[in-house]
Amino acid sequence: MKDTPKHQGLRKKLVNRLIEKGIRSKEVLTVINKIPRHYFIDKDFESHAYIDKAFPIGSEQTISQPYTVAFQTSLLELKENEKVLEIGTGSGYQTAVLIELKAKVYTIERQHYLFRKVKKKLPLLGYNPELIKYGDGFLGMIEYAPFDKILITAGAIKIPKKLLLQLKIGGVMIIPVGNNTHKMTHILRTGKNKYEKKILGEFSFVPMLKNKN
Ligand code: SAH
Repeated sequence: MKDTPKHQGLRKKLVNRLIEKGIRSKEVLTVINKIPRHYFIDKDFESHAYIDKAFPIGSEQTISQPYTVAFQTSLLELKENEKVLEIGTGSGYQTAVLIELKAKVYTIERQHYLFRKVKKKLPLLGYNPELIKYGDGFLGMIEYAPFDKILITAGAIKIPKKLLLQLKIGGVMIIPVGNNTHKMTHILRTGKNKYEKKILGEFSFVPMLKNKN
């Protein structure tokens, strides 16, 4: 894998595109400019890496669109050393973004093929999440809860209750909710049984899988 001046140039253009589309977080733009997104896409298709689009990664899943990654990550307002639960590891690109922002990442993937691939790849690229788990994101990781932030990168029909309970008081969950299109939902836990919800635009995600064997 090589990160050439050509890749770097395309990446810079992508960052400018994200700025045009309204991404403001300097920290997020800096890490997108830094991470070679083409490392997370099959080599034969690396020309697609710096187009602002989702792209297939196998098992009927996609690497999220750069704009979506930038948008969701900005909403997290990460601080150094925060504990983040990510649902939907996929290609590992979003995981790398969180790690570059100095989060401690616990991530879950439901597709075994993608899990095996990403578990090998991330450390090779120098990205070491606290844990990469093969399992069901609807359950979260109760053994490591509570989390400062929870990020869901697949579309959920409704907000999983179990995940809400794994959020710290004062913590934030970002989750796309809906059937075909998904409302980006920002949830702040303000008390033991109190949550404040805001909706911040419409997106389109692959569905969060339930009861998959
Ligand atoms: N953030 C990743 C993937 C986005 S696609 C990236 O940008 O590459 C959503 C991912 O969520 C897919 O890899 C899919 O397999 C995974 N997924 C779907 N349902 C899930 C569930 N219940 N638990 C954990 N992961 C799930």
